[in-house]
Amino acid sequence: MNYNIAVISGDGIGPEIVAEAKKVLGKIEVKYGHKFNYTEVLMGGISIDVHGVPLTEEALSTAKESDSVLLGAVGGDVGNSKWYGVAPNLRPEAGLLALRKGLSLFANIRPAYLYQELKSACPLKDEVIGDGFDMVIMRELTGGIYFGERKTEEVNGIIKATDILTYDDEEIRRIAIRGFDIAMKRRKKVTSVDKANVLDSSRLWRKVVTEVARDYKEVELEHMLVDNCAMQLVKNPRQFDVILTENMFGDILSDEASMITGSIGMLSSASLGKTKQGMYEPSHGSAPDIAGKNLANPIATILSAAMMLRYSFDLDEEAGAIESAVIQVLKDGYRTVDIMSDGFSKVGTCEMGDLIADRI
Ligand code: NAD
Repeated sequence: MNYNIAVISGDGIGPEIVAEAKKVLGKIEVKYGHKFNYTEVLMGGISIDVHGVPLTEEALSTAKESDSVLLGAVGGDVGNSKWYGVAPNLRPEAGLLALRKGLSLFANIRPAYLYQELKSACPLKDEVIGDGFDMVIMRELTGGIYFGERKTEEVNGIIKATDILTYDDEEIRRIAIRGFDIAMKRRKKVTSVDKANVLDSSRLWRKVVTEVARDYKEVELEHMLVDNCAMQLVKNPRQFDVILTENMFGDILSDEASMITGSIGMLSSASLGKTKQGMYEPSHGSAPDIAGKNLANPIATILSAAMMLRYSFDLDEEAGAIESAVIQVLKDGYRTVDIMSDGFSKVGTCEMGDLIADRI
């Protein structure tokens, strides 16, 4: 099969890590007989340098026409870069928000997987970790309190700030369907997280998620209050498969979940909309402090490419081949500097990409 991928290498370590993901995808092409056609799209600081804006209309159109978008990272050193002395809508990260909006990506998926080989990086106790955990946080991305009406006013000397949290049933239904679809490809369990004991929006959330669950008889659904979920993530993370939640709860819980894996250079993510198209990127930023030094860990980007194969192209076996190759390289004792510890072999960005590609 032929797939058209818009590639946004971006800034900082972006070009280095994307090059390694493409190297690995090249091996998938050879082994499985696919063809990935890449179109380079400028976004972020590099687009500001060339076009004066972080995302041009033309770049957005190219991304829209692609089957999927693979992104490295954008942005520079916020305290010390030519890109930041301007209005927020002209900074590198504004390109990212415009792209997510332009592609109508309402669902963000962040896996939190603890590699046995990296267990020592996990801040939880051994008896809690057991044989590891493997979950995804599915966060609604374009609704809720971050997008509701907000105002600050002073009445009779009292300053009052208001943020309105709104969801409609359609917004909840579409993300719930995405969550159950993903659970079907995994261990078939959805934990829907809300605050239904207090919030009307959460009661609607729970009602709609329960309705959607009726179409997925094989998937076990449980409801959990968000405060309990925050506790359960550190008490027993192994119980979770897919955590499905609204925007703000997901923002907080996904950072908590990624923290317990202990390694930012390993964490992939996907943003999806109603169609098969998605945007796939590592959870970390452009790491300007190590850019151009062959020090960056490319694994998060390589695993994001695997997510693209699974979720946008339905290439489960190929995605699995990449994930297994990553595990094998870690088992063989190779580490980039961010996950390095005594007794292992230190490798650079490029070598890590070569090793993973070789094991496909
Ligand atoms: P960062 O994630 O770029 O870096 C934080 C720390 O982690 C740094 O010490 C960095 O060297 C290290 N690190 C990150 N990725 C790594 C990797 N793959 N391998 C090894 N080490 C890695 O976060 P930051 O420093 O807060 O932000 C830097 C820039 O990235 C900023 O301009 C920020 O706005 C931008 N940013 C972009 C995205 C994105 O493009 N999606 C996301 C977050 C931050």
